[in-house]
Amino acid sequence: MSRTTRIERYRNIGIMAHIDAGKTTLTERILFFTGRIRAMGEVHAGSTEMDWMVQEKQRGITITSAATTAFWKPMRGPFVGTAHRINILDTPGHVDFTIEVERSLRVLDGAVAVFDASQGVEPQSETVWHQANRHGVPRIAFLNKMDKVGADFAMSVHSIRQRLDANPVPVQLPIGAGPEFSGVVDLLRMKAFHFDEASGEPSEREFPEALRAEAEALRLRLIEACAEVDGTVLRKYVEGRLADITEEELERALRAGTLQRQLVPVLCGAAFKKKGVQMLLDAVVNYLPAPSDLPAVEGVTPDTEVQVTRSANEEEPVCAFVFKLMHDKAVGSIVFLRVYSGTLRTGMAVLNPRQQRRERVGRLMFMHANKREEVDEVHAGDICAALNLRGVRTGDTLCALEAPVVLESLRFPEPVIQLAIEARSRGEQQKMEDGLVRLAAEDPSLRVVVDPETGQQLLSGMGELHLEIVVDRLRTEYGVEARVGQPKVAYRESLRQKVRQDYRHVRQTGGPGQYAHVVMEVGPAPRGSGLVFVDDTHNGVIPKEFIPAIE
Ligand code: GDP
Repeated sequence: MSRTTRIERYRNIGIMAHIDAGKTTLTERILFFTGRIRAMGEVHAGSTEMDWMVQEKQRGITITSAATTAFWKPMRGPFVGTAHRINILDTPGHVDFTIEVERSLRVLDGAVAVFDASQGVEPQSETVWHQANRHGVPRIAFLNKMDKVGADFAMSVHSIRQRLDANPVPVQLPIGAGPEFSGVVDLLRMKAFHFDEASGEPSEREFPEALRAEAEALRLRLIEACAEVDGTVLRKYVEGRLADITEEELERALRAGTLQRQLVPVLCGAAFKKKGVQMLLDAVVNYLPAPSDLPAVEGVTPDTEVQVTRSANEEEPVCAFVFKLMHDKAVGSIVFLRVYSGTLRTGMAVLNPRQQRRERVGRLMFMHANKREEVDEVHAGDICAALNLRGVRTGDTLCALEAPVVLESLRFPEPVIQLAIEARSRGEQQKMEDGLVRLAAEDPSLRVVVDPETGQQLLSGMGELHLEIVVDRLRTEYGVEARVGQPKVAYRESLRQKVRQDYRHVRQTGGPGQYAHVVMEVGPAPRGSGLVFVDDTHNGVIPKEFIPAIE
């Protein structure tokens, strides 16, 4: 058993998928096998543990990026028998919520891309895949639904290569497909495993000779992919000593290749039947990075904007990034944090440079599937939840008082749709406005403005479904029945674009650039001094002379 430090035993991962590929089912099975859920509920039957919020359950889609902590001891491979902490960030699959995907991609270190093996790559998987490329996220692929009629392993692998321009490297070959799917060949060890029908437990079985030729061809392909990233494998390969290549060498090469994003190990299974999930968990630990495998996170000092880095080290000054706010009826606002360096303790005073506030760290906890675990401190690499941080918004950095840093802020796409909203009764108007302020603080892709001409509240967001959900949440969480107008394409888009361009110019040419990087909303400024902008850092005014072309 290898000796590893605490941080080397962390895996912060996302599960990304096209809607309906089985992400929720897989997540639930993972939580089952990692021992954190006692009884598994059927997906869409209102008992999915990852989907916290009411309308997620009703709609059967996953909107929030809740982080759940689980533990896994690999059954095979270099880390066999060592417990690893796997933090699962629930990345949303619906295209309207790409904003949420962006946010969780920012804080995860690796991802499992789930595909429906009967469909291969679907349009939406392409979107999410390219987002993950942009964020440099190492991935492994899981071809789910191998039990479904029409499941086709080779077609799915081919579509990953063709449509995603990736280098998929199968590490397994399914035994049977559709209703005959019964197990896998482990191509590293050239051993066959059968999945128990009831429990999904894998057990070794006789090698299916009918699959030998196909398995050997795929193993050769695996060795070739490993030879591209590992000198030892390469040497043995060119010398024709294939039989001398060890399992350990292949494991090491696959890990290195995945971390360098040169290859994508491919596994398969049927999450619904619990088949292949344990082997996937082994692969998560074996191939996806620990926080310590990644480059230091970059940020800037708040005043002078000097670049600084923070590495995943408990001894460095603390810095943590807020990637999600949620509201919980029982405990109020829950702030989800990724700790990048140092140690955060309850009672500690930290700085939130963007809001120019000091905060006292209240309660800290890990969210498990079925319980919340309160802790006194969290460390570099951890993903946790914090309560009682009132002045904090998504995208903020919390850092040591003596070592202020702002981690690069998230950029959010412009809203694409807008609608007018009003409470059904006058008495509820204030309640609605308060609710909207809260919801907008949680979700930076939601904008709430007052139309200067009509005085109406205008909501803008990423799509109709996004805004529908906001209206739903007003009703379920704030008890406000709201009336909405016809959705319109977000107004003043061209003006906003123009301001953004000019403002960027202002920044580059040394204008009042201390404010913002993204202009999110514009309108006439008070006293005609320029244009008001509201962004994710400050509210401010760009003096008129800096924006000459707009009126
Ligand atoms: P999500 O939208 O990606 O979260 O997908 P879900 O987990 O909600 O699954 C979508 C549908 O596929 C549900 O009806 C699941 O029961 C079904 N499903 C999930 N995994 C499997 C599987 O391994 N085999 C089969 N046949 N169906 C599955």
